[in-house]
Parts: sequence; C-alpha cells; structure tokens
Amino acid sequence: MSIADNFQDIFHAIRRAERLAGREADSVGLVAVTKTQSAEAINAALATGHRIFGENKVQEAQLHWTGLRGVYPDLRLHLIGPLQSNKAGDAVALFDVIETIDREKIARTIGDEMRGQGRDLECFIQVNTGEEPQKAGIAPSDLNKFLSFCRDECTLNITGLMCIPPANEPAGLHFAFMRQLARENGLGKLSMGMSGDFEKAIANGATHVRIGSALFGPRLA
Ligand SMILES: *Cc1c(COP(=O)(O)O)cnc(C)c1O
Repeated sequence: MSIADNFQDIFHAIRRAERLAGREADSVGLVAVTKTQSAEAINAALATGHRIFGENKVQEAQLHWTGLRGVYPDLRLHLIGPLQSNKAGDAVALFDVIETIDREKIARTIGDEMRGQGRDLECFIQVNTGEEPQKAGIAPSDLNKFLSFCRDECTLNITGLMCIPPANEPAGLHFAFMRQLARENGLGKLSMGMSGDFEKAIANGATHVRIGSALFGPRLA
C-alpha cells in the first residue's frame, strides 16, 4: 500500500463514518500527522493534494515545513503536542492552529507572541478528560473559567477543544463527554480521534481527526 492509497482509504472511512453519524460529507477535517516521517513521505502526502498537517514538536515541525511553506501557500499546520514557553514565538510564526493551549502561562505567552508578530492563529484548548496526572490539558471542571481567561485576558481566538483519551478506557465515553463540553461552552470545533479510534470520534462529533500511522505506517522513532 502506498501513502496515496492510504489517504484514499482513510478518506473513504471518514466519509462512511460521517454518513453513519448522519453528518454532512466533508464536515470532518483530516489532520495528517507527520511527526517522525521522512521528507519523501511528506512529499508523497503533498502529492495527493492534501494540505492539512499536524506536528507534535515545534523544532521538528520547522525542519519539516519551513521550506515547504513557500511552495504550498495553502498549507494549514496544526500544533498537536505540548508547548513550552520558550518555543512559543517559533510556534506562532510557523503554525496556523495551536490545539494544545493547556495552562495560563502558555495562554498568556501565546497571546503576547501573536500581538507581537501581528498574527492571529486559531487556538483549541486541550482537555484532560481522564484527569490523568501525567497528561497535559485542563481539568473539565476548570474549562469554563480557563476559556474566559484565554479570551478576556489573553485575547486568544479559541474555537475548539482537543483531547487524547486515556489509553485503557473506552474512547467513546471521552469523546461523548467532549461533545458535551464543547456544547456547554459554545465551541464549534472538536479535535479528537487517532488512527485507532477516529470513527468513534466522528460518531461523537469530531470536526478534526488526527491520523498518523494509518496514513504513513508505523512511526520511525
Ligand atoms: C502522534 C499523534 C497522533 C496520531 O497518532 P496515530 O495513532 O499515529 O494516528 C494524534 N494526536 C497526537 C496528539 C499525536 O501526538
């Protein structure tokens, strides 16, 4: 199976899941996750016409994408990994969407960077739905207050929520909870679902699924 074949298969599976959930065709965006992938794999993905990509590390994303920005002006790059304050400037310069706003300090720093650089990125808040101590994200009970902080104090353009459910629990329950949180907070976008569970996420209202290994094969590192 080539990368182009994999993209076709995944698009078919996404369209099918949309239909089964009674959702409009094309209502779910595919964020193709290129972390650890080679330049060849990335070029093969671009050759299919796909333009929405996700990376979980700022430095690796710069290596992968800085040169390609000029070639593909319609690229849309999502940061889907944890962000440190000292990388906030680079992240704001490179990405179009930051999915992992997860604490006050980073919200403030990203807001300052956007004002400084004159850029206005879309941002999602990462929610730690399983309240796992080792995992990034805002506790569900703190979400409403944090959303106000991001908007009022940091002038962030928060449009959605993102989550990575606990590995050992049924993902569907977490996805359904996320849909409820988004609804309660008036947020339209939901980034959830990976190679193993994206159909379940679509059934529960995902607007973005983040898929790596099902498109590119096992990760290289
Ligand atoms: C790597 C990664 C993905 C993609 O995972 P696959 O299982 O390879 O599809 C999605 N989301 C995040 C946050 C990731 O780090």
